[in-house]
Amino acid sequence: MVEPDRTLIAGGGIAGLTLATALHAQGFQVDLIERNSIWQALGAGMAIQPNAMRALRALHLDCAVADRGIALHQWAFCDRQGELLCEIDLQDFWNGVGPFIGIERAKLQQALLTGVTALPCRLGISVTALLQDHDGVSICFSDGSSGRYDLVVGADGISSGIRELAFGANPPVGAGHIAWRSVVPMRPTKLSDLRFFFGDRCFFGLCPVGGGHTYGFGHVAEPRFHDDVRGRLARLRRRFDGFAEPVQEFLAALECDEQVHCSTVEWVNQEEWHRGRVVLIGDAAHASSPMMGQGGGMAVEDAYVLTECLRSAETVELALDRYVSRRKPRVRWVQQESLSVSQIIGLPPESRNAALRTRGEEMFRHRFQPLIAAP
Ligand SMILES: Cc1cc2nc3c(=O)[nH]c(=O)nc-3n(C[C@H](O)[C@H](O)[C@H](O)COP(=O)(O)OP(=O)(O)OC[C@H]3O[C@@H](n4cnc5c(N)ncnc54)[C@H](O)[C@@H]3O)c2cc1C
Repeated sequence: MVEPDRTLIAGGGIAGLTLATALHAQGFQVDLIERNSIWQALGAGMAIQPNAMRALRALHLDCAVADRGIALHQWAFCDRQGELLCEIDLQDFWNGVGPFIGIERAKLQQALLTGVTALPCRLGISVTALLQDHDGVSICFSDGSSGRYDLVVGADGISSGIRELAFGANPPVGAGHIAWRSVVPMRPTKLSDLRFFFGDRCFFGLCPVGGGHTYGFGHVAEPRFHDDVRGRLARLRRRFDGFAEPVQEFLAALECDEQVHCSTVEWVNQEEWHRGRVVLIGDAAHASSPMMGQGGGMAVEDAYVLTECLRSAETVELALDRYVSRRKPRVRWVQQESLSVSQIIGLPPESRNAALRTRGEEMFRHRFQPLIAAP
């Protein structure tokens, strides 16, 4: 077993919190830093899929997540009026891997924070300089302090500062669509599971989360643009006018522009994930278009696998080599399949809907099947 005396994890998101929990449980000494000065989680809600729940189960975090969210059993794809195109029975498909959970991001963060209560977490701080030699990495922090580490993990998300410092600039790439996300404290009538409604070059998704709340997300195939906060809600309602009743109920329940989070959807094409004693995990290494809802799942699996590799290899470098070779094929699959689903949004509605009606379930199985096996 490698015994890095000190590991620095930069970023307290899904990847960083999960890794900190996993390494701490194995007796590694971990410092966690997070750029935000308070714990906050942007982006409304998300699905934590069974493969992610399996890795969280191994770290005893699954119950904390499940208790704060809700188990979903079906994933339905509909046209914009709500006519069913195809439906996947999630329990049948995942066959005992774990539950499929809808959850608010803030609740997910609370759940993951239960794993790091005994760890030193420094908030409001980031890495400003990084220099490695043969036996360690020297770090300068934004508060003027410094440290020396055996291993540095960049878990600092899609615009990772560690990626830039250690590997050079590699900005995220646009995936060709824009997403609006929010959570309302109600459940549209008859919505009990995950449901996507496809329109012309756009779709709206509804996902129950815990406490009777609902996460809604509208995506439109469009290049980058800025959507001012002022007037955002009215524009969102106009964009999805004519969509099925549950979407209208969701949009009617939103009260103000500030409730709607808008972002360009991007992904990261990064060839190198580790150099010496610096390694990237989660979105820092491989942010993906969210069309499979697997970015968080890949981040959790990364943390689990990296910990296993550190436990079983003789040197840090060997562990990092193993981590990269175990993770890359699976993550690349998710990135590529997610991009191809992104392109489906832009297809003419008639042919896309016809394909979903006749082959939707088969396409879903093909896309997710590789994730049933343990990582
Ligand atoms: C529209 C959309 C919908 C999605 N839906 C889903 C879904 O349903 N299911 C799913 O599994 N995934 C989903 N994802 C993907 C998922 O959100 C990400 O893959 C996941 O959050 C990655 O976790 P992470 O910890 O790597 O990065 P992040 O969650 O981005 O966390 C990074 C952390 O690092 C901190 N940080 C940033 N820079 C620094 C720095 N320089 N120093 C220190 N700290 C820093 C940030 O403040 C943050 O706390 C979606 C993504 C999008 C865009």
